[in-house]
Amino acid sequence: MSLRAQKIQLNPNNKQATLLAQHCGYARVAYNAALSSFKSGLDDGNWKTLYDIKKEFNARKREIFPWCDEMSQNASKNAIHHFSDAVKRWRSGQNRFPKPKNRSGKQSYQADNGTNSVRVERKRVKLPVIGWVRMTEELRWTGDIGRVVVSRKDDKWFVSILVSTDDANTMVQVPLFDDRPAVGVDVGINTLATLSDGTTYENRRPLKVYLRKLRRAGRTLSRKTRFSSNWHKARKRLASIHYRISCIREDSHHKASTSIVRKASAIGIETLNVSGMLKNRKLAKHIADAALSRFLTMIKYKAERRGIPVTEASMFFASSKTCSACGHKKTELNLSERTYHCGECGFTCDRDVNAAINLCPV
Ligand SMILES: [Zn+2]
Repeated sequence: MSLRAQKIQLNPNNKQATLLAQHCGYARVAYNAALSSFKSGLDDGNWKTLYDIKKEFNARKREIFPWCDEMSQNASKNAIHHFSDAVKRWRSGQNRFPKPKNRSGKQSYQADNGTNSVRVERKRVKLPVIGWVRMTEELRWTGDIGRVVVSRKDDKWFVSILVSTDDANTMVQVPLFDDRPAVGVDVGINTLATLSDGTTYENRRPLKVYLRKLRRAGRTLSRKTRFSSNWHKARKRLASIHYRISCIREDSHHKASTSIVRKASAIGIETLNVSGMLKNRKLAKHIADAALSRFLTMIKYKAERRGIPVTEASMFFASSKTCSACGHKKTELNLSERTYHCGECGFTCDRDVNAAINLCPV
């Protein structure tokens, strides 16, 4: 058995969208109530268990959330469970003490009540209390439905469904004897991926028209009075253009990663320096780096599903500076040098292809 998650955009009607937002609110209120009752217990020197917190919440819920009887109680129950998990992580030293959730943060709630309590039928999902809500695509996996989380980004609603599915259904069958090569993959910002066989995948740039729209929306926003209703409208508009652009990027990453794992019998990739990335203060660079590490993650999980081994080079491996023919390592390599020329053996090759050959396993 293996777990598969799929996030699908919902297409609720107005009434359903209001109910979804109310459920997120109910989950937030329950989480915060659990936090404050746990905290007051700590102050009085009495450790409240999950059972105490639940009991206390159920006694007070009508007072703190007057519409709670019209809501699915799964939302509050799961939120209190999430709080209890947060306390466990805090006690084990993994996280800091949980903080209250506010209205402007991420809005979400967990809708299920255990395995197979939520039904999915073709392009719709039956959420407790809310009923059948349309989905923009079908669930890709079959099996037992576990956690179902509804979330909101800007004005869009999503449902993330966890399915525990039979491996036989999800493993992609790969022919036993095939002559596909091992490939090394060099990733970059201009060319998304260069393979050791010389294939390149361009990074699809958001169209010029989106960049123009982005700039205009940014200007419009800056002229509005903060927190006015026109400011909120302009902010939504800007966010929706950013969303569009991120969809374009994700689409090209999915297409490239699928194409790469289809043609390889083994894959070698580099390890990006993630902690170094977080220190990077230039936003554009940061976003580009984050996108590249997501791209590498896609290659890894898609390869894993096909049973293709992935070798990750050490973070300090100089894949660009090393000669792929003789192994000589240059001390310096300018970013502007697009062609690799080895002073030791005379090997000449495209810079990215040289790096990809170095990353190639075997
Ligand atoms: Zn050389």
